[in-house]
Amino acid sequence: MRKITQYDPAEVPLLADVVDCFSGNDRTLLDGHLTNFEAACDDFVLAVPDVHARRPIIADKATRENLSKMWERKPAQAARLFAAMKDSLPKEDRSLCPFCNLSEDPELDHYLPKGEYPEFSLFSRNLVPICGVCNKHKGVVVRSSAGDRVILFPPYDLTVEGVFLTMSIQYGASALASKYEISAHTGLTAHVLGILKRHFARLQLARRFEARANAQLAMLVRTVRGWEVDVARSAIDSWCKPNPFELAPNSWEPVLKAHIRAELEPVIAWLTARRLLS
Ligand SMILES: [Zn+2]
Repeated sequence: MRKITQYDPAEVPLLADVVDCFSGNDRTLLDGHLTNFEAACDDFVLAVPDVHARRPIIADKATRENLSKMWERKPAQAARLFAAMKDSLPKEDRSLCPFCNLSEDPELDHYLPKGEYPEFSLFSRNLVPICGVCNKHKGVVVRSSAGDRVILFPPYDLTVEGVFLTMSIQYGASALASKYEISAHTGLTAHVLGILKRHFARLQLARRFEARANAQLAMLVRTVRGWEVDVARSAIDSWCKPNPFELAPNSWEPVLKAHIRAELEPVIAWLTARRLLS
């Protein structure tokens, strides 16, 4: 849901630097494919951000599996190269997952899955720091059956300014509940909107955002319980004021706060009707 700053170019290892870390049979296997891999990596850079449209270059299943396992077998020296690349990101991009904007201590994920595309398993530009939950939901799907991109590519996607993540409050009998969705925005083309919606559904972001927002709403209700109406109104309004240090605008929390502020009177009316305010 958020474009991440790109890695410091000085810290992005070249494919040849990574391959140099390997020895023995692994090195022989990599060397045998190196020319093709380097050409594929050049094509990857040219295809950005539509790298999902690339076709795998290794047809043989056994070779593909062997090469894809190279990531797990990488020597410590190669692991250090990738760690330096991740560490070169600004702190926010290191601690927040760009797919969900949740703070989950991201791990490096292969954007094009290594099982299908072993030619990019050691290619630094194919690695994006994402959280374990998004990684699990993403699985190995990068394009729909129609060939459209399913998942955003955060180092290069989303230059759109403006809020496309929207939410509404459901006024239940005993609790306030949130509902999140992706909405059309003047800065969004139909193409990007389609990717956003597929990304949102694939990573189950509505459910994950709603769990957090519902907990926040329950906390808010508990906090103001018994307060005078005007004091509660003022406290809620103050709590929902935009924070300049807050996360990207398309994160669940700023969207929740902006919505409560816009719907302050219905929220107060709901609290009053339930005799939660004095
Ligand atoms: Zn995530």
